[in-house]
Amino acid sequence: MNRILPTSTAGSLPKPSWLAEPEKLWSPWKLKGDELAVAKQDALRLALDDQRQAGIDIVGDGEQTRQHFVTTFIEHLSGVDFEKRETVRIRNRYDASVPTVVGAVARPKPVFVDDATYLRTQTSQPIKWTLPGPMTMIDTLYDAHYRSREKLAWEFATILNQEAKALEAAGVDVIQFDEPAFNVFFEEANDWGISTLERAIEGLTCETAVHICYGYGIKANTDWKKTLGSEWRQYEETFPNLQKSKIDIISLECHRSRVPLDLIELIRGKKVMVGAIDVASDAIETPEEVADTLRKALQFVDADKLYPSTNCGMAPLSRQVARGKLNALGAGADIVRRELEG
Ligand SMILES: [Zn+2]
Repeated sequence: MNRILPTSTAGSLPKPSWLAEPEKLWSPWKLKGDELAVAKQDALRLALDDQRQAGIDIVGDGEQTRQHFVTTFIEHLSGVDFEKRETVRIRNRYDASVPTVVGAVARPKPVFVDDATYLRTQTSQPIKWTLPGPMTMIDTLYDAHYRSREKLAWEFATILNQEAKALEAAGVDVIQFDEPAFNVFFEEANDWGISTLERAIEGLTCETAVHICYGYGIKANTDWKKTLGSEWRQYEETFPNLQKSKIDIISLECHRSRVPLDLIELIRGKKVMVGAIDVASDAIETPEEVADTLRKALQFVDADKLYPSTNCGMAPLSRQVARGKLNALGAGADIVRRELEG
């Protein structure tokens, strides 16, 4: 990256109200066919422009072309029946009606490669693309075929690796896998979750990241957080193995969260995307608040490895709030950058 403290977001940004109903997850599209395809590209350009105006260094598509960070990827795969739905408990937290794995899973064609190619044509800045991680994917499905969470995760890892290689070829600089499930299923994460993630990045030469968070600011997540006590030490369970893994960057939730920041010490040597924006609140951080979180993180991560970011995606927020938060992130990183360079 060109300068220290390169900023980025965890991934999603709110969609314009002409594309999908705002401030809602799984919001249905308002258009169809060719009109929808063009509208998604327009929304991507606006999301990119918001990031550019805020001085964000590593930019993304704001996930404007997908309805949901996990489901949209799975919709493009074969072996999953979206008509056949079962109710499962997602990340031990909330029940959702999910599609069923009915046969061998495969990726008949690229999923996001056209979108990433389009993003690449729109900017010369480094670009980051997000994909769901294998363990988070299996947790969003009912498996009537493999009947083994581990086996299905390995299958998804192979598919994700195909997609990641194609995204890299399209010019993506950083590929990020979202694995909120790592904060819930520690034993599985350590037994095979991190290994399946390494399978997903096999042979890539671009940078790779894993995003592990406490989720969007939706009620199921905020209720869950209330049960976690005064210190959130979940990262402690997986960090030792992540530190030894081949993943380049770990993306974390830090700001206004109960995560003790000294846990970052456990991944010393990795690049760390430090969440300095709270996505579970409409209150817009001041640049000084962002700077304060970054300064605290600097005790545990070297300045050349600190990547200021957001705690999670901002899809459920209003566009105005998300823009304010993007601007605070850019300005807060500027403050600390000046301090470090001064
Ligand atoms: Zn997240």
